[in-house]
Amino acid sequence: MLPTIALIGRPNVGKSTLFNRLIRRQKALTHDLPGVTRDRIYGEVRQSERPFALVDTGGLVLDEDQNFEKEILEQAHEAIQESHAILLVVDGKGGLNPVDEQVARDLRESHKPVLVVVNKVDGYEKEDLASEFHALGLELVPVSAAHGYNVPELLERVSAII
Ligand code: GDP
Ligand code: MG
Repeated sequence: MLPTIALIGRPNVGKSTLFNRLIRRQKALTHDLPGVTRDRIYGEVRQSERPFALVDTGGLVLDEDQNFEKEILEQAHEAIQESHAILLVVDGKGGLNPVDEQVARDLRESHKPVLVVVNKVDGYEKEDLASEFHALGLELVPVSAAHGYNVPELLERVSAII
């Protein structure tokens, strides 16, 4: 069985964009496993040195009265338990958010391998966007899921932690 890595983070940070970029050439292998929570999508990444299964979380639609922060934290907690390693995706353009800090705290306590993926760093000249996320106390990798910037580096870093 491949090691499982979950993408977690707030809505709109770019988790699904990153998921699609990483499993791009294996799209046919993407499937919803029967009996697996509806809001998770699984794919396999084989373009890296060490292949892994990738889980995209957060496809759920929330009613107005649902507490979305609580929902994110619960999803993150489940993903942490189910996975060998975690990619916490944050929005480099949007900046550091209190929910990111809370999820990062859970991740540090879990002692699982984790990388903070600072997304929407759309090129080398935007690398400064990542600096403030050092406050999360976790290893950072700036990327652009939409444009592919630094994604090979991300795959190398993932291979190193699993
Ligand atoms: P998710 O809710 O975390 O799965 O986020 P999505 O993957 O659906 O992306 C949310 C929005 O962010 C979409 O409008 C994407 O086009 C945009 N987005 C994703 N990645 C990037 C990126 O690297 N750069 C920029 N500028 N926008 C991005
Ligand atoms: Mg998504």
